[in-house]
Amino acid sequence: MQSSSRGIRLRNCFSMLRHLLADHPSSRPHLAVKTGLSVATVSNLVAELIDLGVVVEAGWEDSGGGRPRMLLAPNTEGGVLIGVDVATTYVKFEAYDLALQVLHRIEEQVDLAEDTPEKLLDHIASGMADLRGRLAGREILGLGVSLPGQVDVAGGISVFTPNWNWRDVAFKQLLAERLGLEAPIYLDNSLKTVTAGELWFGDGRGVERLAVVVLGTGVGVGLAFDGKLYRGATNSAGEWGHTVIDADGPVCRCGRRGCIEARIGAPAILREWAAASGGAHEWDTQESGIEALVDAWKAGEEPAVRTVEATARYMAIGVANLVNLVNPDLVVFTGWVSSVLGEALLPELEARLGDHVLESALGALRVKLDEQSRNMVLLGAAALALEGHLNGIKSIGSRSRP
Ligand SMILES: [Zn+2]
Repeated sequence: MQSSSRGIRLRNCFSMLRHLLADHPSSRPHLAVKTGLSVATVSNLVAELIDLGVVVEAGWEDSGGGRPRMLLAPNTEGGVLIGVDVATTYVKFEAYDLALQVLHRIEEQVDLAEDTPEKLLDHIASGMADLRGRLAGREILGLGVSLPGQVDVAGGISVFTPNWNWRDVAFKQLLAERLGLEAPIYLDNSLKTVTAGELWFGDGRGVERLAVVVLGTGVGVGLAFDGKLYRGATNSAGEWGHTVIDADGPVCRCGRRGCIEARIGAPAILREWAAASGGAHEWDTQESGIEALVDAWKAGEEPAVRTVEATARYMAIGVANLVNLVNPDLVVFTGWVSSVLGEALLPELEARLGDHVLESALGALRVKLDEQSRNMVLLGAAALALEGHLNGIKSIGSRSRP
């Protein structure tokens, strides 16, 4: 019972802090209205957050003759959160204050051949040394790290990274030993970090049932219910890319046949375009290929138009399966393919959803393209570190108890 009531209090704490981060300074009564919590509950949570150094009082509100209200704001002079995004060609770092404003940003280029845990640890250590120099002794409260592939969050283990073929690498422990940081490290994959980013800072804020569809080289879904990430039994929830939409379809990277990723992942889209136009295209990178496809689609070239339609048709089946299963309030499309091709894909997708989604689910559904300019993978990694820091409040919501 206690753990569930603690869970509810933490959720209330996250909800209130998300509102404060979005709009500050703010007062206790205003936060109560925004969150639907009582002023007493908000006051209790605020006291905990002030004790923890996350929130500060920030002067009085001009109440136009009424009773003045104390204003609250994130403690921008307090500790620092760090987000790290580890990918095949780069490691990106952002350091944030507690208002989650970027203090410093660093990027390390990674050679494709540098695919061992040791090489990636070298890059993280080098970036962190640079970052700590710039932070000049400011306390680091937590480090959120996004890794590709499957991650065992509790054990801090990279279970499987297809790009590098890592299996069961105790990455968090290796990183902790390497960095010698006092602060805790939170390891997860980018599906989860990007969804945490949407919950804290994006379209997912305040949404009860959220699905974040990430479209890139691979595809996947982040799910969050009641303001909290849904991980599943082994943190594999959201491996939507490997749900099968055609048992006789093309072979997927995972070795199975007919997965949605084998139809709408960037390589599949480019393959479709090449087939539609007689195989006449060559691209240096997937990114330049998808950009060329968008240009051709804008110019009304028929093979490009047909490719977008075919991709949207497969996507509609996959998204409809997701919607029929989860019945979300909102589906947000993010990832680099969404940012480049989303304006072409989304209208085609929406036009087809009605063919496959049950009516009651369709009526409640909103679909939108992520238009955030901030890096949600990094922000989300830092948000996981923030959640971890808040989780450390032993007495949260129970100040009357010893
Ligand atoms: Zn697959």
